[in-house]
Amino acid sequence: RIAGPCGIVLFGITGDLSRRKILPALYDLANRGLLPPSFTIIGVARKVDPSLPEKVEAAIREGANTSVTETTLKQLMSGLVVVNGQYNDIETYRSLGHAMDRMSAERGTNGNYAFYLAIPPELFPTVLGGIGTAGLCAEDDGWRRVVVEKPFGHGLESARELDDMVTKVFHQDAIFRIDHYLGKETVQNLMALRFANELYEPLWNSAHVDHVQITMAEDIGIGTRAGYYDGIGAARDVIQNHLLQLLALTAMEEPISFEPSALRIEKEKVLEATRFYGPVGESAVAGQYTSGWQGGEWVRGYKEEPGIPADSITDTYAALRLGIETRRWKGVPFYLRAGKRLGRRVSEIAVIFKYPPFLPFPSTDGLGHNALVIRVQPNEGMTFKLGSKVPGSGMQLRDVTMDFAYGHAFTEYAPEAYERLILDVLLGDPPLFPRHREIELSWRLLDQAESHWAENPESIAEYAPGTWGPAASDRMLARDGRAWRLP
Ligand code: NAP
Repeated sequence: RIAGPCGIVLFGITGDLSRRKILPALYDLANRGLLPPSFTIIGVARKVDPSLPEKVEAAIREGANTSVTETTLKQLMSGLVVVNGQYNDIETYRSLGHAMDRMSAERGTNGNYAFYLAIPPELFPTVLGGIGTAGLCAEDDGWRRVVVEKPFGHGLESARELDDMVTKVFHQDAIFRIDHYLGKETVQNLMALRFANELYEPLWNSAHVDHVQITMAEDIGIGTRAGYYDGIGAARDVIQNHLLQLLALTAMEEPISFEPSALRIEKEKVLEATRFYGPVGESAVAGQYTSGWQGGEWVRGYKEEPGIPADSITDTYAALRLGIETRRWKGVPFYLRAGKRLGRRVSEIAVIFKYPPFLPFPSTDGLGHNALVIRVQPNEGMTFKLGSKVPGSGMQLRDVTMDFAYGHAFTEYAPEAYERLILDVLLGDPPLFPRHREIELSWRLLDQAESHWAENPESIAEYAPGTWGPAASDRMLARDGRAWRLP
């Protein structure tokens, strides 16, 4: 589907997210003919910078997923306008309103605009207040939507405050909370895998699944993002949103349709039923990377990173052991882990099946559990691990894998997550955007772990760079007779 006449108001057009993700995604959409010729980008920035259009062009050339066609780029750039001003000055919003009206008249956006808040979260109240006071959210002559980036608050209380603030200005259906993981092909394919096939669903329950591991590992440190990261940490940064959304999609019941509300209802039911699997103290592990060798390079420890206080207790690694109190999942632990400076960059969901109750073979030494591993990134795809006979005489067994890789199976263009999600915003199609209730439910869980770590800072264990996290995390699984996968 192609977006109708509209434009985007990009607060933070000079920022990192705009440069790396949003502007290239807009170009890719235009290049694939999915944006209307009238499409307009109104950037909002504090300082006047005559070279901003060149910087926008450079960001597109560098980040675009599709090849850059000069005519498409020129067409997109002809709809770029910049409004300068301070975010706490009402005049900025008045100028913005004039620019929106002018572009409606000149380019034909029909008054349809999405406000994208690509700015630090502490500016959300000021900017939302400005939009509201200047009446820019009024849908008198076109639709108005708002895109909010994670983090959706810092905990349950601040998430509620943020929601109160946004809903004062925009109605619920106009609010799009971006979780870019939900825009990834494999994440969406999880639903196809489960509900378009007969094979998996009968096994997708506590009778056959031993446990589930959801991993989001990065091999890099915090880089230059100290200001954002310290005080937030791995659990708030990615478990609250990406990993708990992956858990919800893995565990949810079949929705009655793919209508946005049907999908959200099922995800909410799972999150509502999710608890720590045992006492929080035994089911939540936090860690911090130390200095050391990684990939032939000496790297700094977290507390030595520029801008990080020497007594910081921020988690750069977090692991949770959760359970879902439903007939389908009772007794099946869901282990979630996320961290920086781990062995390699990988995000995956691994469904580990039970061991067969009986094996009529003389030796089963090489045989592990069946496992279905859904790779979210990199190399999006799926691997199924199963036992097989080793060629030759005798009945020796060994695990083998069956692989499906998106890159091999499909020749179709795979849009980047941001491309997919921004188009959904412009189309007003929200199935992949979490509702506030989902966010509240995930904070309700996470707040318990955060309070435990804040009250027991000594429990935040160190781990060496390039490893798979603190030993305490391995012990958490070992107590259950299990071990983390080495992705
Ligand atoms: P950023 O680069 O730090 O800031 C974006 C823009 O906001 C800046 O270019 C600046 O624009 C303005 N700004 C920054 N600090 C300000 C201040 N103290 N007062 C007034 N204006 C200020 O942010 P970002 O990394 O692009 O992230 C934007 C949003 O996306 C955040 O909510 C972040 O949590 C979220 N997010 C980012 C990423 C990522 O990879 N970067 C990933 C997921 C989510 P002007 O000076 O031109 O006004």
